[in-house]
Amino acid sequence: MSTVYNFNAGPAALPKAALEAAQKELLNFNNTGMSVMELSHRSKDYDAVHQQTKQLLKKLLSIPDTYDILFLQGGASLQFAMLPYNLLPQNKVGQYVLTGSWSEKALKEATLIGETNVLASTKDSNYSTIPDLKDAPFTDNDAYVHITSNNTIYGTQWKQFPSISHAPLVADMSSDILSKKIDVNQFGMIYAGAQKNLGPSGVTVVIVKKELVQQAQVEHVPTMLRYGTFADHDSLYNTPPTFGIYLLGKVLEWAESIGGLEKLEQVNEEKAKILYDTIDSSDGFYKGHAHPSSRSSMNVTFTLPNEELSKSFLSLAKERGFVGLNGHRSIGGCRASIYNAVPIEACMALRDLMNEFKSNN
Ligand code: PMP
Repeated sequence: MSTVYNFNAGPAALPKAALEAAQKELLNFNNTGMSVMELSHRSKDYDAVHQQTKQLLKKLLSIPDTYDILFLQGGASLQFAMLPYNLLPQNKVGQYVLTGSWSEKALKEATLIGETNVLASTKDSNYSTIPDLKDAPFTDNDAYVHITSNNTIYGTQWKQFPSISHAPLVADMSSDILSKKIDVNQFGMIYAGAQKNLGPSGVTVVIVKKELVQQAQVEHVPTMLRYGTFADHDSLYNTPPTFGIYLLGKVLEWAESIGGLEKLEQVNEEKAKILYDTIDSSDGFYKGHAHPSSRSSMNVTFTLPNEELSKSFLSLAKERGFVGLNGHRSIGGCRASIYNAVPIEACMALRDLMNEFKSNN
């Protein structure tokens, strides 16, 4: 098979080493004579996988003991509702920073559940920037402040998180968790669907301060929507997505083996630079959507001079084995998602293709 460059936005490229490790033991996991998918979630063999995955995540992200690490289902989209169900009591306000469609969706769900407010929004710039919260109208009544750390569709990213002390900072990190070092202590809660940097779709990781879970007023919240249910049962209240957690473990082992977050961050910066330099040196042929100060190192969004050229670029890219470069249907153009598992060689190949296409047009 010829080389395929996978720039999918999610589900996305997974590290080959993780897939190969899973392949090797697919039919006989740990001498059990069966696949890890066929084990009981109450078995000793599965429990070892569950604990190891949790410990590795804790180690890689330096998650303090004061946080619960939960493996849930329902995607990041269910967290849009679970968060306010648990952490937005009646007399308080959920503060939302709008930086793209995913934050809009998070707000929409919270508005169904409690009182919300838009603290800041960059919609006027078609979400090409990240706002400054210096003069934002915080109140004493804030239940939490919600941000989207990386905006998958628009290709923008918080380069420095706002320092907030009066209420917990909550971040949807679906598309940049594990891509760089972060200080978990800055957050009350972090959540992420796995299918970009962590593993296959089907697992959602929630990292939440234990005291927030303990204080949550959840008498009227269904059992499966309470963080406490999962915290009290180590994410084994019901059947967890066992294969997804197992593969997440394999991805984390790979991340550790190549040098952890420091190394990943360095390589991710290099990969992004290759593509942004190509855009910036194209004399305006390629235009980046994101303002340079807000550029994402995970999703590089750009347009060509017109729709026709855009189509013909995408068609050439497809012919040459590049997958997933179409921009999201809501903004058009092109998007290269360059998560952790996308090798630097794929970015170099895309750079060469972009330069070649520009010369010929
Ligand atoms: N938040 C962000 C930043 C996303 O990129 C996505 C899309 N994968 C979601 C939330 C929704 O995630 P899910 O499909 O897991 O519900």
